[in-house]
Formats: sequence, C-alpha cells, structure tokens
Amino acid sequence: MDTPAIYLDHNATTAPLPAVVTAVTQALQSLWANPSSQHAPGQAARQALMQARATVARTLHCKPAEVVFTSGATEAGAMALRGAVGFNGRQVIVVSEAEHSSARKLAKALAAQPGVTVRWVGLMPDGSLDAVQAREFIRDDVSLVSVMAANNETGALMPIGELARLAHAAGALLHVDATQQIGKLPFDFAACGADLVSLSAHKFGGPKGVGALLVRQGLNWPALWPGSQERGRRGGTENLPGVLGMAAAAEALQLSPEAWLQRAAHMARLRDQLEQGLVQALPGVHILGEHTARLPNTTLLRIEGLHAEQVLNALAQLGIAASSGAACSSGGNEPSHVLTAMGLSRDEALGAVRLSLGPDTPARDIQHLLQHLPARLRPLLPTPSAPGHEATTPGVFA
Ligand code: PMP
Repeated sequence: MDTPAIYLDHNATTAPLPAVVTAVTQALQSLWANPSSQHAPGQAARQALMQARATVARTLHCKPAEVVFTSGATEAGAMALRGAVGFNGRQVIVVSEAEHSSARKLAKALAAQPGVTVRWVGLMPDGSLDAVQAREFIRDDVSLVSVMAANNETGALMPIGELARLAHAAGALLHVDATQQIGKLPFDFAACGADLVSLSAHKFGGPKGVGALLVRQGLNWPALWPGSQERGRRGGTENLPGVLGMAAAAEALQLSPEAWLQRAAHMARLRDQLEQGLVQALPGVHILGEHTARLPNTTLLRIEGLHAEQVLNALAQLGIAASSGAACSSGGNEPSHVLTAMGLSRDEALGAVRLSLGPDTPARDIQHLLQHLPARLRPLLPTPSAPGHEATTPGVFA
C-alpha cells in the first residue's frame, strides 16, 4: 500500500506499532499450535495467551479473568447489547444518539423484537450528552445503559462516572464503548464504574480484527455463540497472532501519568494549532464540538459553502489522508447521525471533515497543511456576493 505522506485519520485506524508487527509475525511463525491442545506446542500457545491477557488487563486496570477476547469492538458491543435483553428480567436498553453505527444498527434491530424497548438519549448542540434526558430515561425498568466513552466523529467525551451512578441506582448495568478513548487518554476499568467495556486493538496500534469485552468479575454474561474458549464466554479457536499483537500494543500504553500528560498535550497542541490556523486563514470555518470536553487528537470541522468531498480532495492532493465524519459511513450520501443529533442541517453535516492526529504526528505535518490547504480551498469558496450560496452549492451528493 502507498503510505500517505501525512496520515490524519487515527480515529479510523492506526498503523501497527513495530512491536506489534514483530509479535504477530512471531506468533504466526512459532506459536501456531492450538492453545486448547494438550501437547507441548499447544501448551506454549496457551501460556502466551495467558500472558497476553495479563498484559491487556494491566494496561486497562482490570483482572485477567475479566478480559474476553473478541474480533473487535463491533462484536464486543454486540455481546453487551444482546446479552442485556432479558437481563434481570428487564427488556429496556438505553443508548445514546452518539453511538457507533454498529451499535446503533444493532439497537434498532433489537428494538424491533417483541417486548424490547430502546430509549435513545439525544445530544446537545455542542456534542455532549443530553444529561437531563439521560436522567429521565434511566429508570428501574432498564437492564443496560450503553454509551461510548468518546465519540469517534467529534471526540466528545461522555459523562461515564455520572452514567454509572444513574445506572446502578436504577439496578441497571453500564456498558461503555471505550474504543476511541484507549490510546488517546488513560483508561481505568476498575475506576470508571462500568460493568462492561468494549474495545478494538487497531485504534491503538494493534492489528485489526481483534478486541475485547471486559466483563466485571461476578457478572455471568452470556456468549454470542457457545464454545469452550474464553471460559465459555466466546467460542472459537483463539486468534493468537491478533491477541499477541493487541497485547504488544497494550503494553506500549503502560505509561506513567507524566508520559500520558505529554502524549495528550502533544496531540492537543497540534490540534489547537490546526484549528486556529484554519479559522484565521479561511472564512466560515466551524469547529464542531469545540465547546465540550473532547479527545485531544480530534478535529471535526466544516467550511461554509464547501462539501466534505471538496475538502478531502484538496487534502488528498496535498498527500493528506483524512475522513468525512465516520470512516464507516464515508462514501455515502447520508449525513452523520451524530451531527444530525447535534442539530446540524443536512448540508452542514455533509460538509464535515474529520482530522484525527496520532501521538507521533509531527508538527511539520500540521505546518504543511496550514501552509497549503487554505490556498487550495479559497478558489472553491462561494463569493460573498452570491447570497444563499450554501443551499445552492452543488455538493457531490446534492
Ligand atoms: N466503536 C467505536 C466508537 C468505533 O470508532 C469503532 C470503529 N470505528 C467501533 C466501535 C467498531 O470497531 P471495529 O470495527 O474494530 O469492530
């Protein structure tokens, strides 16, 4: 694959760390035996699996027995949501409008089942959760509250501690989709108050197709499909190369508080430079979600009169890889459900471009963007003498 000169799409995925490539390669070469086999090679594979579980648990501040390896956050989230139906004899699930499209689609499918109710908590115009509605919806008929720690599009952080308190007071459980937080900010399962947490390795330097559901000890959570692996919680021969790759990525996140601060501050400093530079250089730049607490690496912006595709094309010509809204829905002509929930119009939402930085993004990448992007976009901007241009600008999907 041609590596883009500048990669600003870390919320879509990250490049595997060198230690991850080594771990996966070694696993494929020398740990290919089945961890369930009784012979020596099988036991060596089993041993490696146990070590990987302990490493992941150490990074996320949970117990090794609380880690259920899955194929990623989509599966882990499905396990959380499907397991919630009927849990404690309750059939009501509370989810937010910010949830990832995979969770959103599953919640809609569950709501179509007889007897199941899904309550959707809305978003405020700044991208934060509607806390008043959350309080109203989390009642003693709810089995599970499912909310992401950080939104993949805006980077908005959700009030996990408060949701844990509300859920537990109502006798419900809390599932947190921590996919976007892990790797960008520290994450502590023991402290966050969640009962279930989903994550995906490729968002923090690990391989794709592997992740985990953390299940609070003592919670007997049902498997999506039966089998003897993962203590009966997830059937199927373990993806040992993936799991060892994920453990290597997790190990790289065992940082001191100072190192975490530096990592986040580096991304936030460059992100702020990027935003301020664009706002100063071009008219009509809106930073979406800038007024709420958000991830240090994420910028979601729109430029009045421009469709996301036009901005992405200009970025591509500069060798810069970015996304329109969520990668999973890019290429489509539907506005992001997150931005719609924040009250943006269809045209406004279709203009949104996401630039997401990584811990190793160099300052020169942001300088390059700021030096060249405004000049490329200026000729595309509608002239001020054409009133009503926003509604009539022919967008790619108009
Ligand atoms: N949740 C969030 C917040 C995500 O950003 C993603 C990936 N974009 C997922 C879940 C799904 O992860 P995966 O595709 O690796 O299963």
